[in-house]
Amino acid sequence: MAQKKLPESGMAQDALFAALTDMKKNDMQYQDGRTFSLIYNAGQDVIEIGRRAFAMYLVENGLSPFSFPSLKTMETEVISMVASLLNGGDGAVGNMTTGGTESILMAVKAARDRAHKKHPQITQPELIKAATTHPAFNKAAHYLGLKVVTAPVDKDFRMDADAVRDAITDNTIFICASAFTYPHGVVDPIEDISALAAERGIWFHTDACLGGFILPFVEQLGYDVPVFDFRAPGVTSMSCDLHKYGYCPKGASSVLYRNAADRLHQYYAFADFPGGVYGTPTMCGGRTGGPYAGAWAVMHYLGHDGYLRLAKQAMDTARKLQDGVRAIPGLDVLGAPHGTVFAMVGDNNHNIYAVSDFMTESGWFLEKQQMPASLHVTTSPYHAEVADQFLADLALAAKKAEGMDGSKLSQEAAMYGMMATMPDRALARDLALQFLNDLYKLESK
Ligand SMILES: *Cc1c(COP(=O)(O)O)cnc(C)c1O
Repeated sequence: MAQKKLPESGMAQDALFAALTDMKKNDMQYQDGRTFSLIYNAGQDVIEIGRRAFAMYLVENGLSPFSFPSLKTMETEVISMVASLLNGGDGAVGNMTTGGTESILMAVKAARDRAHKKHPQITQPELIKAATTHPAFNKAAHYLGLKVVTAPVDKDFRMDADAVRDAITDNTIFICASAFTYPHGVVDPIEDISALAAERGIWFHTDACLGGFILPFVEQLGYDVPVFDFRAPGVTSMSCDLHKYGYCPKGASSVLYRNAADRLHQYYAFADFPGGVYGTPTMCGGRTGGPYAGAWAVMHYLGHDGYLRLAKQAMDTARKLQDGVRAIPGLDVLGAPHGTVFAMVGDNNHNIYAVSDFMTESGWFLEKQQMPASLHVTTSPYHAEVADQFLADLALAAKKAEGMDGSKLSQEAAMYGMMATMPDRALARDLALQFLNDLYKLESK
Protein backbone atom coordinates (compact mmCIF):
# COMPACT_ATOMS: atom_id res chain seq x y z
CA MET A 1 0.00 0.00 0.00
CA ALA A 2 1.58 3.19 -1.14
CA GLN A 3 1.50 6.13 1.22
CA LYS A 4 0.52 9.52 -0.09
CA LYS A 5 3.66 11.49 -0.87
CA LEU A 6 4.28 15.18 -1.20
CA PRO A 7 3.41 16.26 -4.75
CA GLU A 8 6.54 16.09 -6.90
CA SER A 9 6.35 19.83 -7.43
CA GLY A 10 4.16 22.45 -5.83
CA MET A 11 0.52 22.82 -6.85
CA ALA A 12 -0.94 25.89 -8.49
CA GLN A 13 -2.88 28.06 -6.06
CA ASP A 14 -6.14 27.82 -8.00
CA ALA A 15 -6.03 24.05 -8.02
CA LEU A 16 -5.20 23.69 -4.38
CA PHE A 17 -7.91 26.07 -3.19
CA ALA A 18 -10.36 24.32 -5.49
CA ALA A 19 -9.36 21.05 -3.81
CA LEU A 20 -9.87 22.55 -0.35
CA THR A 21 -13.30 23.85 -1.34
CA ASP A 22 -14.19 20.48 -2.80
CA MET A 23 -13.26 18.68 0.42
CA LYS A 24 -15.84 20.75 2.30
CA LYS A 25 -18.75 19.33 0.35
CA ASN A 26 -19.38 16.41 2.71
CA ASP A 27 -19.04 18.56 5.85
CA MET A 28 -21.94 19.61 8.02
CA GLN A 29 -23.44 22.76 6.48
CA TYR A 30 -23.78 25.11 9.42
CA GLN A 31 -24.45 28.31 7.49
CA ASP A 32 -28.21 27.78 7.21
CA GLY A 33 -28.73 26.95 10.91
CA ARG A 34 -29.49 23.25 10.50
CA THR A 35 -26.99 22.03 13.07
CA PHE A 36 -27.51 21.99 16.84
CA SER A 37 -24.03 21.29 18.18
CA LEU A 38 -20.39 22.19 17.43
CA ILE A 39 -21.17 25.59 15.87
CA TYR A 40 -22.18 28.77 17.71
CA ASN A 41 -23.54 31.01 15.01
CA ALA A 42 -24.15 34.68 15.78
CA GLY A 43 -24.27 35.70 12.13
CA GLN A 44 -21.90 36.22 9.23
CA ASP A 45 -20.65 39.63 10.44
CA VAL A 46 -19.30 38.12 13.67
CA ILE A 47 -17.66 35.28 11.74
CA GLU A 48 -15.94 37.79 9.45
CA ILE A 49 -14.60 39.90 12.35
CA GLY A 50 -13.10 36.79 13.93
CA ARG A 51 -11.66 35.59 10.64
CA ARG A 52 -9.98 38.94 9.86
CA ALA A 53 -8.44 39.35 13.30
CA PHE A 54 -7.33 35.69 13.40
CA ALA A 55 -5.64 36.00 10.00
CA MET A 56 -3.85 39.22 11.10
CA TYR A 57 -2.07 37.34 13.90
CA LEU A 58 -1.82 33.92 12.28
CA VAL A 59 1.97 33.90 12.04
CA GLU A 60 2.82 35.46 15.42
CA ASN A 61 3.85 32.99 18.13
CA GLY A 62 2.26 33.02 21.58
CA LEU A 63 5.26 31.18 23.01
CA SER A 64 7.12 34.46 23.46
CA PRO A 65 5.21 37.32 25.09
CA PHE A 66 8.47 39.29 24.91
CA SER A 67 8.72 39.06 21.14
CA PHE A 68 4.97 39.56 20.67
CA PRO A 69 3.75 41.78 23.52
CA SER A 70 0.55 42.38 21.54
CA LEU A 71 -0.57 38.81 22.28
CA LYS A 72 0.07 39.16 26.00
CA THR A 73 -1.90 42.42 26.05
CA MET A 74 -4.81 40.81 24.21
CA GLU A 75 -4.75 37.77 26.50
CA THR A 76 -4.77 39.78 29.74
CA GLU A 77 -7.50 42.10 28.45
CA VAL A 78 -9.66 39.16 27.37
CA ILE A 79 -9.16 37.44 30.74
CA SER A 80 -9.93 40.66 32.56
CA MET A 81 -13.22 41.04 30.67
CA VAL A 82 -14.19 37.42 31.40
CA ALA A 83 -13.20 37.76 35.08
CA SER A 84 -15.39 40.82 35.50
CA LEU A 85 -18.28 39.06 33.75
CA LEU A 86 -17.91 36.17 36.22
CA ASN A 87 -17.49 38.39 39.32
CA GLY A 88 -13.88 37.43 39.80
CA GLY A 89 -12.99 40.27 42.16
CA ASP A 90 -9.70 42.13 42.31
CA GLY A 91 -7.47 39.13 42.95
CA ALA A 92 -8.76 37.06 40.03
CA VAL A 93 -6.32 35.90 37.35
CA GLY A 94 -6.39 33.49 34.44
CA ASN A 95 -5.09 32.44 31.08
CA MET A 96 -6.40 31.78 27.62
CA THR A 97 -6.16 28.19 26.40
CA THR A 98 -6.98 26.40 23.16
CA GLY A 99 -10.31 25.07 24.40
CA GLY A 100 -12.41 23.86 27.29
CA THR A 101 -10.52 20.62 27.52
CA GLU A 102 -7.21 22.41 28.03
CA SER A 103 -8.77 24.82 30.55
CA ILE A 104 -10.05 21.84 32.54
CA LEU A 105 -6.73 20.00 32.30
CA MET A 106 -5.00 23.10 33.66
CA ALA A 107 -7.39 23.52 36.61
CA VAL A 108 -7.08 19.85 37.57
CA LYS A 109 -3.30 20.06 37.23
CA ALA A 110 -3.15 23.14 39.47
CA ALA A 111 -5.36 21.43 42.07
CA ARG A 112 -3.28 18.26 41.96
CA ASP A 113 -0.04 20.13 42.47
CA ARG A 114 -1.47 22.31 45.25
CA ALA A 115 -2.71 19.18 47.04
CA HIS A 116 0.65 17.52 46.54
CA LYS A 117 2.31 20.43 48.29
CA LYS A 118 -0.23 20.95 51.07
CA HIS A 119 -1.19 17.31 51.69
CA PRO A 120 1.77 15.14 50.71
CA GLN A 121 0.20 12.23 52.63
CA ILE A 122 -2.45 11.90 49.86
CA THR A 123 -0.97 9.47 47.37
CA GLN A 124 -4.23 8.47 45.59
CA PRO A 125 -5.94 11.82 44.94
CA GLU A 126 -9.65 11.72 44.01
CA LEU A 127 -11.83 13.96 41.87
CA ILE A 128 -15.61 14.10 42.35
CA LYS A 129 -17.87 14.79 39.38
CA ALA A 130 -21.27 13.68 38.10
CA ALA A 131 -22.05 11.45 35.12
CA THR A 132 -23.40 14.60 33.44
CA THR A 133 -20.16 16.58 33.98
CA HIS A 134 -18.06 16.80 30.81
CA PRO A 135 -15.68 13.87 30.02
CA ALA A 136 -12.80 16.36 29.83
CA PHE A 137 -12.57 15.85 33.63
CA ASN A 138 -12.26 12.07 33.16
CA LYS A 139 -9.61 12.77 30.54
CA ALA A 140 -7.76 15.14 32.89
CA ALA A 141 -7.91 12.55 35.68
CA HIS A 142 -6.63 9.92 33.25
CA TYR A 143 -3.73 12.11 32.12
CA LEU A 144 -2.87 13.39 35.59
CA GLY A 145 -3.25 10.24 37.69
CA LEU A 146 -6.40 11.03 39.70
CA LYS A 147 -9.18 8.61 40.56
CA VAL A 148 -12.67 9.68 39.43
CA VAL A 149 -15.57 9.33 41.86
CA THR A 150 -18.95 9.78 40.14
CA ALA A 151 -21.70 11.30 42.30
CA PRO A 152 -25.33 10.62 41.28
CA VAL A 153 -27.65 13.31 39.87
CA ASP A 154 -31.28 13.94 40.87
CA LYS A 155 -34.38 13.38 38.72
CA ASP A 156 -33.80 16.74 36.99
CA PHE A 157 -30.22 15.74 36.13
CA ARG A 158 -28.69 18.16 38.65
CA MET A 159 -25.94 17.14 41.04
CA ASP A 160 -27.04 16.55 44.58
CA ALA A 161 -25.06 18.21 47.39
CA ASP A 162 -25.85 15.41 49.87
CA ALA A 163 -24.58 12.80 47.43
CA VAL A 164 -21.39 14.82 46.97
CA ARG A 165 -20.95 15.04 50.76
CA ASP A 166 -21.22 11.24 50.95
CA ALA A 167 -18.64 10.84 48.17
CA ILE A 168 -15.97 12.96 49.88
CA THR A 169 -13.09 10.97 51.40
CA ASP A 170 -9.74 11.90 52.95
CA ASN A 171 -8.31 11.62 49.44
CA THR A 172 -10.68 14.08 47.73
CA ILE A 173 -8.72 16.99 46.28
CA PHE A 174 -11.05 18.29 43.56
CA ILE A 175 -14.81 18.70 43.18
CA CYS A 176 -16.45 20.11 40.08
CA ALA A 177 -19.93 21.01 38.85
CA SER A 178 -21.33 22.55 35.68
CA ALA A 179 -22.98 25.77 34.60
CA PHE A 180 -24.61 24.45 32.55
CA THR A 181 -24.20 20.76 31.67
CA TYR A 182 -23.69 19.76 28.06
CA PRO A 183 -26.23 16.91 27.90
CA HIS A 184 -29.21 18.67 29.55
CA GLY A 185 -28.36 22.37 29.94
CA VAL A 186 -28.93 22.52 33.71
CA VAL A 187 -26.91 24.49 36.27
CA ASP A 188 -25.80 22.31 39.20
CA PRO A 189 -26.35 23.54 42.82
CA ILE A 190 -22.94 25.19 42.83
CA GLU A 191 -23.42 27.37 45.93
CA ASP A 192 -24.14 24.30 48.09
CA ILE A 193 -21.48 22.03 46.61
CA SER A 194 -18.74 24.67 46.62
CA ALA A 195 -19.56 25.48 50.27
CA LEU A 196 -19.08 21.79 51.14
CA ALA A 197 -15.72 21.85 49.40
CA ALA A 198 -14.68 25.09 51.13
CA GLU A 199 -15.50 23.69 54.59
CA ARG A 200 -12.93 20.96 53.99
CA GLY A 201 -10.37 23.05 52.12
CA ILE A 202 -11.01 21.14 48.87
CA TRP A 203 -10.52 22.77 45.48
CA PHE A 204 -13.84 23.50 43.73
CA HIS A 205 -14.13 24.16 40.00
CA THR A 206 -17.14 25.51 38.11
CA ASP A 207 -17.17 24.22 34.56
CA ALA A 208 -18.77 27.15 32.76
CA CYS A 209 -17.26 26.16 29.42
CA LEU A 210 -20.72 26.12 27.90
CA GLY A 211 -22.74 28.56 30.01
CA GLY A 212 -20.09 31.02 31.20
CA PHE A 213 -20.46 33.48 28.37
CA ILE A 214 -24.25 33.44 28.18
CA LEU A 215 -25.57 32.92 31.74
CA PRO A 216 -24.47 36.38 32.99
CA PHE A 217 -26.58 37.91 30.21
CA VAL A 218 -29.45 35.46 30.73
CA GLU A 219 -29.49 36.58 34.36
CA GLN A 220 -29.54 40.25 33.28
CA LEU A 221 -32.52 39.47 31.06
CA GLY A 222 -34.40 38.58 34.26
CA TYR A 223 -34.29 34.80 34.14
CA ASP A 224 -33.69 32.84 37.31
CA VAL A 225 -30.08 31.61 37.18
CA PRO A 226 -28.58 29.81 40.20
CA VAL A 227 -25.33 31.42 41.42
CA PHE A 228 -22.49 29.64 39.63
CA ASP A 229 -19.55 32.05 39.50
CA PHE A 230 -17.04 33.58 41.94
CA ARG A 231 -19.93 35.10 43.93
CA ALA A 232 -20.07 31.64 45.53
CA PRO A 233 -17.16 31.97 47.98
CA GLY A 234 -16.12 28.32 47.66
CA VAL A 235 -15.38 28.55 43.93
CA THR A 236 -11.60 28.22 43.43
CA SER A 237 -11.43 28.13 39.62
CA MET A 238 -13.64 28.29 36.54
CA SER A 239 -13.44 27.38 32.87
CA CYS A 240 -15.29 29.49 30.31
CA ASP A 241 -15.06 28.85 26.57
CA LEU A 242 -14.80 31.88 24.32
CA HIS A 243 -15.34 29.78 21.21
CA LYS A 244 -18.82 28.77 22.33
CA TYR A 245 -21.24 31.51 23.46
CA GLY A 246 -18.44 34.08 23.20
CA TYR A 247 -18.79 33.50 19.41
CA CYS A 248 -14.99 33.75 19.01
CA PRO A 249 -13.02 31.67 16.48
CA LYS A 250 -12.13 28.22 17.76
CA GLY A 251 -8.98 27.63 19.76
CA ALA A 252 -10.13 30.07 22.47
CA SER A 253 -11.11 29.29 26.03
CA SER A 254 -10.27 30.71 29.43
CA VAL A 255 -9.34 29.28 32.82
CA LEU A 256 -9.79 31.60 35.81
CA TYR A 257 -8.62 31.46 39.42
CA ARG A 258 -9.84 33.41 42.41
CA ASN A 259 -6.22 34.15 43.32
CA ALA A 260 -2.76 34.08 41.81
CA ALA A 261 -1.35 31.76 44.49
CA ASP A 262 -3.55 28.91 43.24
CA ARG A 263 -2.84 29.74 39.61
CA LEU A 264 0.90 29.38 40.25
CA HIS A 265 0.38 25.59 40.39
CA GLN A 266 -0.83 25.65 36.78
CA TYR A 267 2.51 26.87 35.43
CA TYR A 268 5.45 24.90 34.18
CA ALA A 269 9.08 26.02 34.07
CA PHE A 270 12.39 24.33 33.32
CA ALA A 271 15.52 26.29 34.11
CA ASP A 272 18.24 23.98 32.69
CA PHE A 273 17.58 23.88 28.95
CA PRO A 274 20.59 25.00 26.87
CA GLY A 275 18.04 26.61 24.54
CA GLY A 276 17.13 29.01 27.34
CA VAL A 277 15.14 29.11 30.55
CA TYR A 278 11.80 27.71 29.48
CA GLY A 279 8.38 28.44 30.93
CA THR A 280 4.79 28.13 29.71
CA PRO A 281 1.50 29.03 31.38
CA THR A 282 -0.56 26.27 29.72
CA MET A 283 -0.17 22.96 27.82
CA CYS A 284 0.99 24.30 24.48
CA GLY A 285 4.43 25.43 23.49
CA GLY A 286 4.50 27.37 20.24
CA ARG A 287 1.06 28.54 19.18
CA THR A 288 -0.57 30.89 16.71
CA GLY A 289 -1.65 34.35 17.80
CA GLY A 290 -4.92 33.87 15.91
CA PRO A 291 -7.20 32.91 18.81
CA TYR A 292 -6.00 35.81 20.98
CA ALA A 293 -6.72 38.36 18.27
CA GLY A 294 -9.92 36.61 17.23
CA ALA A 295 -11.30 36.64 20.78
CA TRP A 296 -10.16 40.20 21.51
CA ALA A 297 -11.75 41.46 18.29
CA VAL A 298 -15.09 39.64 18.60
CA MET A 299 -15.50 40.69 22.25
CA HIS A 300 -14.81 44.33 21.35
CA TYR A 301 -17.02 44.13 18.26
CA LEU A 302 -20.05 42.81 20.14
CA GLY A 303 -19.60 44.61 23.46
CA HIS A 304 -21.93 44.17 26.41
CA ASP A 305 -25.03 45.25 24.53
CA GLY A 306 -24.21 42.96 21.61
CA TYR A 307 -23.93 39.92 23.87
CA LEU A 308 -27.11 40.90 25.70
CA ARG A 309 -29.01 41.18 22.41
CA LEU A 310 -27.68 37.81 21.21
CA ALA A 311 -28.49 36.17 24.56
CA LYS A 312 -32.06 37.41 24.29
CA GLN A 313 -32.36 36.09 20.76
CA ALA A 314 -30.91 32.69 21.75
CA MET A 315 -33.05 32.42 24.91
CA ASP A 316 -36.28 33.44 23.15
CA THR A 317 -35.53 30.85 20.48
CA ALA A 318 -34.58 28.14 22.99
CA ARG A 319 -37.84 28.71 24.91
CA LYS A 320 -39.81 28.61 21.67
CA LEU A 321 -38.12 25.34 20.66
CA GLN A 322 -38.68 23.80 24.11
CA ASP A 323 -42.38 24.77 24.16
CA GLY A 324 -42.68 23.48 20.60
CA VAL A 325 -41.08 20.13 21.48
CA ARG A 326 -43.35 19.72 24.52
CA ALA A 327 -46.38 20.38 22.31
CA ILE A 328 -45.53 17.55 19.89
CA PRO A 329 -47.28 14.30 20.87
CA GLY A 330 -44.73 11.71 22.02
CA LEU A 331 -41.84 14.17 22.56
CA ASP A 332 -40.63 15.97 25.67
CA VAL A 333 -37.76 18.06 27.08
CA LEU A 334 -35.58 16.47 29.78
CA GLY A 335 -35.37 18.23 33.16
CA ALA A 336 -35.71 22.00 33.51
CA PRO A 337 -32.94 23.63 31.44
CA HIS A 338 -31.58 26.96 32.72
CA GLY A 339 -30.29 28.26 29.43
CA THR A 340 -30.11 27.68 25.71
CA VAL A 341 -29.12 24.00 25.72
CA PHE A 342 -31.57 21.14 26.19
CA ALA A 343 -32.27 17.50 25.34
CA MET A 344 -35.40 16.04 23.79
CA VAL A 345 -36.72 12.55 24.40
CA GLY A 346 -39.45 10.33 22.98
CA ASP A 347 -42.03 8.32 24.94
CA ASN A 348 -42.32 4.50 24.72
CA ASN A 349 -44.07 4.78 21.40
CA HIS A 350 -41.55 7.20 19.81
CA ASN A 351 -37.98 5.97 19.34
CA ILE A 352 -36.01 9.22 19.53
CA TYR A 353 -33.23 7.83 17.30
CA ALA A 354 -35.87 7.16 14.64
CA VAL A 355 -36.98 10.79 15.00
CA SER A 356 -33.32 11.73 14.48
CA ASP A 357 -33.17 9.62 11.29
CA PHE A 358 -36.24 11.38 9.85
CA MET A 359 -34.81 14.78 10.79
CA THR A 360 -31.58 13.88 8.98
CA GLU A 361 -33.67 13.03 5.90
CA SER A 362 -35.13 16.53 5.99
CA GLY A 363 -31.69 18.10 6.35
CA TRP A 364 -31.32 18.73 10.08
CA PHE A 365 -28.43 17.49 12.18
CA LEU A 366 -29.09 16.50 15.81
CA GLU A 367 -26.46 14.77 17.93
CA LYS A 368 -27.62 11.54 19.61
CA GLN A 369 -27.19 11.20 23.39
CA GLN A 370 -27.51 8.22 25.74
CA MET A 371 -28.61 7.32 29.29
CA PRO A 372 -31.40 8.14 28.53
CA ALA A 373 -31.61 8.15 24.72
CA SER A 374 -32.17 11.76 23.66
CA LEU A 375 -31.21 14.36 21.07
CA HIS A 376 -29.00 17.34 21.84
CA VAL A 377 -30.02 20.91 21.07
CA THR A 378 -27.60 23.82 21.49
CA THR A 379 -29.52 26.91 20.44
CA SER A 380 -27.60 29.67 18.64
CA PRO A 381 -28.98 33.16 18.03
CA TYR A 382 -29.08 32.27 14.36
CA HIS A 383 -31.68 29.53 14.99
CA ALA A 384 -34.32 32.26 15.37
CA GLU A 385 -34.48 32.21 11.55
CA VAL A 386 -35.30 28.50 11.32
CA ALA A 387 -37.25 27.69 14.51
CA ASP A 388 -40.68 27.44 12.83
CA GLN A 389 -39.45 25.21 10.03
CA PHE A 390 -37.57 23.05 12.54
CA LEU A 391 -40.66 22.50 14.69
CA ALA A 392 -42.81 21.72 11.66
CA ASP A 393 -40.31 19.13 10.43
CA LEU A 394 -39.92 17.73 13.94
CA ALA A 395 -43.68 17.20 14.27
CA LEU A 396 -43.64 15.29 10.97
CA ALA A 397 -40.62 13.23 12.04
CA ALA A 398 -42.31 12.32 15.34
CA LYS A 399 -45.44 11.25 13.46
CA LYS A 400 -43.44 9.04 11.12
CA ALA A 401 -41.51 7.52 14.03
CA GLU A 402 -44.70 6.65 15.92
CA GLY A 403 -44.82 2.95 16.80
CA MET A 404 -41.63 2.24 14.86
CA ASP A 405 -39.45 -0.48 16.33
CA GLY A 406 -35.66 -0.51 16.43
CA SER A 407 -35.32 -2.75 13.36
CA LYS A 408 -36.05 0.12 10.95
CA LEU A 409 -33.37 2.45 12.28
CA SER A 410 -30.58 3.61 9.98
CA GLN A 411 -27.39 1.59 10.34
CA GLU A 412 -25.72 4.52 12.05
CA ALA A 413 -28.53 4.98 14.59
CA ALA A 414 -28.78 1.24 15.25
CA MET A 415 -25.05 1.05 15.83
CA TYR A 416 -25.19 4.02 18.18
CA GLY A 417 -28.11 2.51 20.08
CA MET A 418 -26.24 -0.77 20.41
CA MET A 419 -23.15 0.93 21.84
CA ALA A 420 -25.27 3.09 24.16
CA THR A 421 -27.06 0.14 25.73
CA MET A 422 -24.22 -2.40 25.88
CA PRO A 423 -24.14 -3.66 29.48
CA ASP A 424 -20.36 -4.08 29.46
CA ARG A 425 -19.14 -0.44 29.50
CA ALA A 426 -15.48 -1.45 29.47
CA LEU A 427 -16.12 -3.26 26.21
CA ALA A 428 -17.99 -0.22 24.82
CA ARG A 429 -14.95 1.87 25.68
CA ASP A 430 -12.56 -0.57 24.00
CA LEU A 431 -14.74 -0.53 20.88
CA ALA A 432 -14.62 3.27 20.86
CA LEU A 433 -10.82 3.21 21.15
CA GLN A 434 -10.49 0.71 18.33
CA PHE A 435 -12.92 2.76 16.27
CA LEU A 436 -10.68 5.83 16.69
CA ASN A 437 -7.61 3.87 15.75
CA ASP A 438 -9.29 2.69 12.54
CA LEU A 439 -10.76 6.11 11.79
CA TYR A 440 -7.32 7.71 11.64
CA LYS A 441 -5.63 5.00 9.62
CA LEU A 442 -3.73 6.31 6.61
CA GLU A 443 -5.59 5.89 3.36
CA SER A 444 -3.63 4.45 0.50
CA LYS A 445 -3.42 6.61 -2.58
C1 LIG B 1 -17.49 21.98 25.28
C2 LIG B 1 -17.44 21.67 26.73
C3 LIG B 1 -16.23 21.33 27.35
C4 LIG B 1 -14.96 21.06 26.59
O1 LIG B 1 -14.60 22.08 25.75
P1 LIG B 1 -13.83 21.89 24.35
O2 LIG B 1 -13.73 23.29 23.89
O3 LIG B 1 -14.65 21.00 23.49
O4 LIG B 1 -12.50 21.29 24.67
C5 LIG B 1 -16.27 21.18 28.72
N1 LIG B 1 -17.40 21.31 29.42
C6 LIG B 1 -18.58 21.62 28.85
C7 LIG B 1 -19.81 21.75 29.69
C8 LIG B 1 -18.63 21.80 27.48
O5 LIG B 1 -19.80 22.07 26.88
